[in-house]
Amino acid sequence: MCHSMKNDHKNMLHDAYEYALEYLSNLADRRVYPDEQMLEELKRLDLPLSESPNDSAEILKLLHEVGLKTTVTSPGGRYFGFVMGATLPQTIASSWLTSTWDQNAALFDTSPLAAYTEEISLRWLAELFGLPKNCGGAFVTGATLAAFTSLATARNHLLKQQGWDVQKQGLFEAPNLNVIVSEEIHITNLKAISLLGLGSERLAKIPTDSQGRMLVNKIPDITGPTIICLQAGDLNSGCFDKFDEIIDKVSSDNTWVHVDAAFGMWALVSEKFKHLAHGIQGADSWSVDAHKWLNVPYDSGIALVKNSEALRSAMSFGASYLTPAPGKRRPTDYSPGLSSRARGIDIWMALATLGKSGIAEIIENCCSNAEYAATELSKAGFEILNDVVLNQVLVSFGDDARTDEVIKKIQQDGTCWCGGTTWKGRRAMRISVSSWATTKEDMRLSVEAMIACAKLVS
Ligand SMILES: *Cc1c(COP(=O)(O)O)cnc(C)c1O
Repeated sequence: MCHSMKNDHKNMLHDAYEYALEYLSNLADRRVYPDEQMLEELKRLDLPLSESPNDSAEILKLLHEVGLKTTVTSPGGRYFGFVMGATLPQTIASSWLTSTWDQNAALFDTSPLAAYTEEISLRWLAELFGLPKNCGGAFVTGATLAAFTSLATARNHLLKQQGWDVQKQGLFEAPNLNVIVSEEIHITNLKAISLLGLGSERLAKIPTDSQGRMLVNKIPDITGPTIICLQAGDLNSGCFDKFDEIIDKVSSDNTWVHVDAAFGMWALVSEKFKHLAHGIQGADSWSVDAHKWLNVPYDSGIALVKNSEALRSAMSFGASYLTPAPGKRRPTDYSPGLSSRARGIDIWMALATLGKSGIAEIIENCCSNAEYAATELSKAGFEILNDVVLNQVLVSFGDDARTDEVIKKIQQDGTCWCGGTTWKGRRAMRISVSSWATTKEDMRLSVEAMIACAKLVS
């Protein structure tokens, strides 16, 4: 039994290795989004549920074949949809090991390795971003859960100052808590706010300037406990709020400033772009994604909270079987979940291998490709709707209907993939360059395809 099991591992992993290499070696030539016919392949997975075991090698082969046809080529260099990022070779490797080790990151007792890689990564991230050494952190599924974790901490902390214990007393009779956001807030923050019982429609929404930055003079005077959500890296324009000015204006014992820095936080690592995030360290918490610009596999986000004790107090939930480990990090004390993937491992791997300059290089490379795309599209006569300050480009191909038609053509063409958005009342195509793998040649080919598609639409 033991012997055959070992054999199984070897055969399965060997096949997976070959399939993965085949996939990766074809990345540059693949359609970036499967066409209708390729998507038909998905049906091959819909087998009758088997009464008895099937041959694993056969089933893995089927999965591979379907994957070759139907996956979105986001690990390549020409996927510019949403804000996504790819996967560094070394983090695919670390994630294979992480899956092999099957570590549960809940406790130090369930995995010292998971707990310790979180601890080191957290220290490194604090250093990279210029945050206090003892900054608290939670390793969660993404920026949405990172916002949820941070804002839960903010809510509990501010209400505790009012003598109200949310964990015990709930929210029904609680003192008032104001929430201020910008009109351009990423909707995932509104989701977090609504999940936390703070109401997505009882907040103050502050208008923004032409780039999507909160208008500082429209922020009301702070009266009573207030959470204010800012952003570093708008999903459309890539703009950053004016942290210095805003934090200076709202700062009090009664305010908690949270920054959605899902991808913008990484700008701090580059000498060239860190000025955009100037003053961001003055906030109380930050949500950051690792599966976007750090290019680690899904899913991976980090909540960073200056007041580590407030985070711990909001998230830890004692139970007799959850043994304390004095002096050791217990991940669940900082996060909404218990059992979880050891996300610290891939983050550790990325940071350990890239170092500061390696990360800066990814950021700067993406931004220079974004700038190139904006320049070339503008030369070809199309309007760029944002100041391209980072890795995001918004382009209009004419009126709304024409822009949508061109986006559709580009998506059908398959050379690259870009999505649409509405920016300041106008339809636009979004180009988000977030993959470490994007080369100048990828960008040249993509822009060429965009212009060719636009010419097909009258
Ligand atoms: C992607 C993104 C989010 C949501 O992050 P997830 O990792 O998808 O949960 C939030 N805010 C911004 C600015 C983003 O770009």
